[in-house]
Amino acid sequence: MPSQEVADPRRRLPSIDRLLASPDVQRLIELYGRPLVTVQAQRTLQALRDAGASDPEAVESALGDLPARLAAGIVEALGPPLLRVLNATGILLHTNLGRAPLPTDLAAALPALLDASCDLEIDLASGRRGERNGRAEHLLRLLTGAPAALVANNNAAVLVLVIATFAAGREVIVSRGELVEIGGSFRIPDILAAAGGRLVEVGTTNRTTLADYARAIGERTGLLLKVHPSNYRIEGFTTSAAVEELAGLAARHRLPLLVDEGAGLLRAREEPQLREHRAMRELLAAGAPLVCGSGDKLLGGPQAGLLLGAAALVERCRRHPLYRALRPSRMTLAALELVLRRHAVEERLPLDALWPQAEAHHRRLEQVAAQIGAELVPANAFVGGGAAPEEPIPGEALALAGGEPLLRALRTGEPPVVGYVRDDRLLLDLRTVAVADDELLVAAVHRAREVAAAAGATA
Ligand SMILES: *Cc1c(COP(=O)(O)O)cnc(C)c1O
Repeated sequence: MPSQEVADPRRRLPSIDRLLASPDVQRLIELYGRPLVTVQAQRTLQALRDAGASDPEAVESALGDLPARLAAGIVEALGPPLLRVLNATGILLHTNLGRAPLPTDLAAALPALLDASCDLEIDLASGRRGERNGRAEHLLRLLTGAPAALVANNNAAVLVLVIATFAAGREVIVSRGELVEIGGSFRIPDILAAAGGRLVEVGTTNRTTLADYARAIGERTGLLLKVHPSNYRIEGFTTSAAVEELAGLAARHRLPLLVDEGAGLLRAREEPQLREHRAMRELLAAGAPLVCGSGDKLLGGPQAGLLLGAAALVERCRRHPLYRALRPSRMTLAALELVLRRHAVEERLPLDALWPQAEAHHRRLEQVAAQIGAELVPANAFVGGGAAPEEPIPGEALALAGGEPLLRALRTGEPPVVGYVRDDRLLLDLRTVAVADDELLVAAVHRAREVAAAAGATA
């Protein structure tokens, strides 16, 4: 019927050209570029034409705010960006939150090395080609006493490289107590198989002796592997072969031994939570011919894999064709070099934030508590990252009424703040938040309370 055709609001939808020419959409084009805005504008119009057949009112109401709908469509099409998050969980090396934060001043030095060219692989003095990883590897040798070092994309890559180099089609001997999964579906047996090695398990879950390894060594053996079990511990009636003994055994059989330290701890630490963890320097001193660890755990650097050890062994890994696929990016090398230089001049790590000077930290907590109406309660922090013992580090945190709704509002706020809920209260541990971010945190809590209250009122 003619009268209905005239009333069809789809007829009032603008053409694509008219929509793109409107001032509001012109501003979107400045922000997002013409190609993306055009595609999204076509989609928005088409969606309204499709919906309009059965739901004219939806089109009617959309006509008033087409540019806003278009903007929302563009944001959705791009997907959520990576956001800076305040980690108030008390878990420093939180794998879901990007593990170790870089020291602020070092992170501030990075853009200048990234937004232009850099002397990554050139010796400026001679003009000749230089060693790509030379600086970081030199610093690693300096810091650990290792004769040679190699940097890869991450520690998993180092394991793959070492296994592929020494044990492709050959046997890799590992204790049953160390066939662990380290989170993020990192499973030692899977990595081993993917790299072409054949797993030979020795000992039992709780006890593996040197004799177990010795018995398993044969003509097909390519590598002995010892893995730090990280976030997992067997207690009670246990035995494992010491690195010193294994190193001797490997040397007698002229076999390489890789000790996966995991955490990238350069030197021994005195804190009770870390006292038992043998650092890379110690493992090398104990005779381990090859030691590996991560860059973004206890080292406090970017994601990277660090391989240290005897020059002949490390160089064989470097020459393996796979290394070309596993080498780190310029961004990684730039950040790693800065962090290693920092380690060379002062023994301060991001890790130290977990044991703040008690009095100063208490004052800081009281100050923030007063601003957000929180109470101080006993709370444990953790090193985390599946890298160090999951042993608690006692201390204090801020407690707020509000539980889950406030937790959610904070997590989706600006900036997002991640805390945790205990006994229906929201806990914020500031040991994993930089002091410079306190103001942001206070403002975020105020806003999140309003959001949570509004959500509660409509629920
Ligand atoms: C974390 C960890 C890994 C994996 O390191 P990535 O750098 O994340 O690849 C391997 N082995 C051990 C013992 C670890 O703790």
